[in-house]
Amino acid sequence: MTSALLLEPAGSLLLINALLYTPSFAGEEGWVLTHRGHIAAVGQGTPPQADAKTIDLRGLILAPGLIDLHAHGALGRDTMDADPAALREMAAFYARHGVTAFLATTMTAPQGEILAALAAIRQVMAEGSGGAALIGAHVEGPYLDAERSGAQDARLVRRALPTEYEPLLGTGAIRLITLAPEYPENRRLLRDALAYSADGARIAVAAGHTRASYEQMVEAAGLGLSQVTHLYNGMEPMHHRRPGAVGAALTLDTLRCQLIADNIHVHPAMLKLAVRAKGPDGIMLVSDAMSGTGMPDGIYILGGLEVIVRGGEARLPDGTLAGSTLTLERAVANIVAAASVSLADALTMASQTPARALGLDGHKGAIAPGMDADLIVLDADLRVRLSVVEGRIAHNEL
Ligand SMILES: [Zn+2]
Repeated sequence: MTSALLLEPAGSLLLINALLYTPSFAGEEGWVLTHRGHIAAVGQGTPPQADAKTIDLRGLILAPGLIDLHAHGALGRDTMDADPAALREMAAFYARHGVTAFLATTMTAPQGEILAALAAIRQVMAEGSGGAALIGAHVEGPYLDAERSGAQDARLVRRALPTEYEPLLGTGAIRLITLAPEYPENRRLLRDALAYSADGARIAVAAGHTRASYEQMVEAAGLGLSQVTHLYNGMEPMHHRRPGAVGAALTLDTLRCQLIADNIHVHPAMLKLAVRAKGPDGIMLVSDAMSGTGMPDGIYILGGLEVIVRGGEARLPDGTLAGSTLTLERAVANIVAAASVSLADALTMASQTPARALGLDGHKGAIAPGMDADLIVLDADLRVRLSVVEGRIAHNEL
């Protein structure tokens, strides 16, 4: 019943007196008109006469909806719950934090558990989430390096075998796979995933939780590897004679970098270094949010392991960082402060660049006529006041 309601066509919205962040305007006054889930017109000066619900933004920021490629959970729920209700709760939470589209991210687990999670994702993709649009799955593990698995269960990390991964690809839910490209079996998955296409949507492949050398990264990039998962985290530290995955990510133009800008996973100076090296078109802010996100301090379960959240830091009992409790609008604020970039550039790193990385930039990631009506309203402190997902209001605190 809920899903039938969600699938009703969205009405028109006219958002006036906005401080616009679009490809043409950065921080200029203007208006946006939506129609049937898309952006119909954007302009300055007198807004058009339209049969639309008019919302006066009184000078608040109007930005493209944020896109999170790496989100495991929130509010005590996790993608690995393999439960459509959990995914909908996560989607509603993310929408309250400015995310209008996300990839539900799985973890290292037995094949059956990953398949169950992908089936739940597929169901919510088809029915609608009611919150941020669930646009697919990011499969993070099990094809990693056990020495760099971080908070993923090293005992279950394994090499990619077609008999195991072909059914995963066959679900049609996957849009991104993180793997350790130093293993030949995993490079075969890299090639097979890039050749796979479902519903016209392609799969991108990222290197992550890896001990790949610079040379192995160059080889993988030649095969079509296009990003790295949470740059710096889950990789060998960069050394000036052994640049490794970090050195490759910072210097190869074909690799975009996911970045956890919480000032816990990565020192602010290293955030700045990454932005200087890659520019806003090469950085994708991600939350890596785990189930304790949006919850009080306490003990949570992540990928079957106990995680202690204290003061917003999520760690295994041995101190290993275990996902974050970051929300993406905070990541935008953090990168503005750490990297001394404009708000327009920070927003690009959390909208247009992740959209490009998935080949979705014709539909999402910018405010322009014809694009999906994925819009957020922020106040001067970058708190989210309104989220519009494909023309429907998913969160309203105006
Ligand atoms: Zn990870």
